[in-house]
Amino acid sequence: MAQQNGDSKKLDIVVVGGGLVGSLEALYLAKRGHRVRIYEYREDIRTTPQVRGRSINLALSVRGRRALKDVGLEDHVINHHGIPMQGRRIHRLDGTTYVIPYDARTNQCIYSVGRNYLNSQLLKESENYHNVQKHFNHKLIEANLNKGSLTFQKTDTKETIPVTADLIIGADGAFSAVRRAMMKQPLFDYSQQYIEHGYLELCIPADEHGGFQMPANYLHIWPRGEFMMIALPNQDCSWTVTLFMPFTNFKMIYSEENLLEFFEKYFPDAIPLIGKDKLVQDFFAGKPLPLVAVKCRPYHVSDKALIIGDAAHAVVPFYGQGMNAGFEDCTILDQLFQKHQENLRAILEEFSLTRWEDTFAISDLAMYNYIEMRDLVTRPSYRLRKAVDDMIFWLFPSLWVPLYNSVTFTTMPYSRCVENRQWQNKVLLYSFIFVGILTAFGAFLRQ
Ligand SMILES: Cc1cc2nc3c(=O)[nH]c(=O)nc-3n(C[C@H](O)[C@H](O)[C@H](O)COP(=O)(O)OP(=O)(O)OC[C@H]3O[C@@H](n4cnc5c(N)ncnc54)[C@H](O)[C@@H]3O)c2cc1C
Repeated sequence: MAQQNGDSKKLDIVVVGGGLVGSLEALYLAKRGHRVRIYEYREDIRTTPQVRGRSINLALSVRGRRALKDVGLEDHVINHHGIPMQGRRIHRLDGTTYVIPYDARTNQCIYSVGRNYLNSQLLKESENYHNVQKHFNHKLIEANLNKGSLTFQKTDTKETIPVTADLIIGADGAFSAVRRAMMKQPLFDYSQQYIEHGYLELCIPADEHGGFQMPANYLHIWPRGEFMMIALPNQDCSWTVTLFMPFTNFKMIYSEENLLEFFEKYFPDAIPLIGKDKLVQDFFAGKPLPLVAVKCRPYHVSDKALIIGDAAHAVVPFYGQGMNAGFEDCTILDQLFQKHQENLRAILEEFSLTRWEDTFAISDLAMYNYIEMRDLVTRPSYRLRKAVDDMIFWLFPSLWVPLYNSVTFTTMPYSRCVENRQWQNKVLLYSFIFVGILTAFGAFLRQ
C-alpha cells in the first residue's frame, strides 16, 4: 500500500475528469491521505482502444517529469516507455534534413510518450491507494459550486447521481463543465481563441523489419511557412504525424489527386514513408480538428471548487507544454496543501492569485512558437540567434538560459522565462549597438 501523509485533516474531494491531469491530481491527493473520487465521462481507457481525435503521443519535459517523480512514476515512464528526442530534425523540400539540437550544451531532451499509456499508468497507480474511487461513464451535467454539490449522469443507464464534496477539482479539459459553472460567478474573466489552423493526424508505419523508417530520437518537422507537418516516434516504431494547416487550405484538398499533388509539392519525402494508399485512406478518414486557447481567472470559487489543467488554461500545442503545465498545476497545488496545512480557502486563493500569470505567459509563448516552428526555423536570422544563445549559454550556463531551454528544461515560472528572454534581447541589442559604435569609431580613427 502506498505511503500516506497521516497527520493532517482528511478531506472528501471529487475530481471531475480522469484524463491526464485529473488522474495525476488524484494521486497527489491520495498520497496526502484524502478521500478522492474521480468521475470520468468516458469509459476506462485501460480497457478501450485508442480513439481518433486526440493527439496520440505527447512531448513530456521537465515540469511533467517532476510531477511524475512526486507520484513515483517518472522512472517507469522515462526508462520503460518514453522515446528521447534530442532536437528538431528539419526536412527541407528536397528531402534532405538537418538537426537543431534542443540543448547542445548538456544534451537534455524531451520524451515522446503515448497519451493512452500515460493516462493508463496514472489510473493504474491509483489502484495502490484504498482512498481513491473511480467512476467511469459519468458525465457532469450540473454543478452548484458554492454548495459543493454536483450531478452526474451515467452514460449507459442515464441515471442521475447527486454528489457532494468538501472540494471539487475540475480537470475536465478545454470544454470544462466545471468552468462553465464558474462562469456564472461575478468577476470571473474568460476568453477563448480558436486559431485559423486545424490539425489532422496521419501515421508513418514501422518498416518491414519492424524498425523506425526515420532517425528515431528527434521531433521531425517539415516547416512550410504558412503550415507545417511534425512527427513524433511511437514505441511500436511507427510515427504519429500531425499536419497543422489553415482550415481554408484543408478545404482545397478534396480528392485523391489534389492530396497527392499537395504532398508531392510540399512533403515529397513523406509520401514513400507513409505510403500512397495509406496517406489517402488516413487523410480522408478523419477531418481536421480545431485548436483552442482558453484564458480565465480566478481559478477557484471560495473554498469549494478549483479548475486545473486544460479546464483552467488550454493552450495551443506548439510549445509541447499543455500537459506539462497541467502537471505543474498539480505540483504547485501539492506544495500549497503542504504550506497551508489543508486550509482550503488559503490554498485555493493563493493558487488563483499566483498561477494565472504563468499560464497566460505559456499561452502566449505557444502561439508564438507556431510561427517559429512552421516558418522562422528555416531562416538564417533564427539560426544565428540560436547559435549566439547557445554559445553564451555554453560560456555562462547559470546566467544565460535560452528561452526554449528555460521553458522546457527548468521549472522557472513561465512568466520569468519571458522576462528572462526580454532581458537577453536587451543585452544583445545594447551589445550590438556598442560593437557598432566601436567599429565606426575605429574606422573613423583609421581615416
Ligand atoms: C494535437 C495536440 C498535441 C499536443 N501535444 C502536447 C505535447 O506534446 N505536450 C504537452 O505537454 N501537451 C500537449 N498537448 C496538450 C495536452 O493534450 C493537454 O494539455 C492535456 O491533455 C490536458 O489534460 P487535462 O487532463 O487537463 O484535459 P483532458 O486531457 O482533455 O482530459 C479531460 C478529461 O475530462 C473528461 N471530461 C470532460 N467533460 C466531462 C464531464 N462533463 N464530466 C466528466 N468528465 C468529463 C474527459 O473525458 C477527459 O478524460 C497537445 C494537445 C493537442 C490537441
